[in-house]
Amino acid sequence: MKALLFHEFGGPEVLRYEEVADPAPGPGEALVRVRACALNRLDLWVRERIPALKTPLPFWTGSDIAGDVVEVGREVTGLKPGTRVAVNPGLACGGCEWCLRGEDSMCERYGIIGEHIRGGLAELVTVPAANCLPLPDHVGYEEAAAFILVNMTAWRMLVTQAALRPGEDLLILGVGGGVSSAAVPIGKLCGARVVVTSSSEEKLQKAKELGADELINYSKQDWVQAVRELTAKRGVDVVLDNVGAATWKGSIRSLANGGRLVTCGATTGPIGETDIRLVFWRQLRILGSTMASRPEFRAVMGQLFQGRLRAIIDRTMPLRDGAEAQRRLTEGRQFGKLVLIP
Ligand SMILES: [Zn+2]
Repeated sequence: MKALLFHEFGGPEVLRYEEVADPAPGPGEALVRVRACALNRLDLWVRERIPALKTPLPFWTGSDIAGDVVEVGREVTGLKPGTRVAVNPGLACGGCEWCLRGEDSMCERYGIIGEHIRGGLAELVTVPAANCLPLPDHVGYEEAAAFILVNMTAWRMLVTQAALRPGEDLLILGVGGGVSSAAVPIGKLCGARVVVTSSSEEKLQKAKELGADELINYSKQDWVQAVRELTAKRGVDVVLDNVGAATWKGSIRSLANGGRLVTCGATTGPIGETDIRLVFWRQLRILGSTMASRPEFRAVMGQLFQGRLRAIIDRTMPLRDGAEAQRRLTEGRQFGKLVLIP
């Protein structure tokens, strides 16, 4: 099969479109013919090298996979060759304290397809059969692949962790990002008023098309001040911040009493300033979130299948042009997902 792989860590120039051996499914696994695989920032980080990971070379990434089951390994029941599937990218042991609680994204050995094992930027991939969710006929591969990771992440952040309720105000920072843009329709589905920030007028307009109620261009105005004005000095109930160091202090200042700050990433750096007085006096909650549990994956995919949420696709490109797609993602030119087709 062909894979978009790298033999050394580095920029998009290290990517090669090469022939490698076909994988075979082990016990409990399914072999999936990849029909679409969407990119995430994770693909870039792994390619550039994550120091804590022992990534075997050559390696290929790809976490957002949709395709057809070709073959199943021993001990697999209930999944037949020919089934169209979306793949849950989360890998969990199934037996630790957290897995037994149903919190598989807290698993002691939690991993992600395309980060901890080779992923879907190839013609074929083996995945745990339990991660395969059959796709209804009306849902396309590209749509499914583009939807998975960012929506499961945003769903857990807003629905489970922040427990966003109808009538609340939600502030989403840096709405051009994958999770942030997915969070706009999820926020609307929860019944919130959605305020978004970006430095790009074009991205703000796209967020408006997704349902955002209030737009703040932080290159033109102080966004913390703008939030104060929009909420008559009250502040918002929930801030979704995966920008990190650059926005952390402002995020805390933007919260109303009892507000929740939920984060799944720190793109601009991991250390932020927290005014502890605001945290206790205003009784704020700071919530971390990573990926999603199996029930959350199923719940959010169900929203796609029912047409209540949809994928946001920037563009689709052939897998062989994956280096160009990764460059586009590096430069932040996209709005929504870049989807590669083997
Ligand atoms: Zn576990």
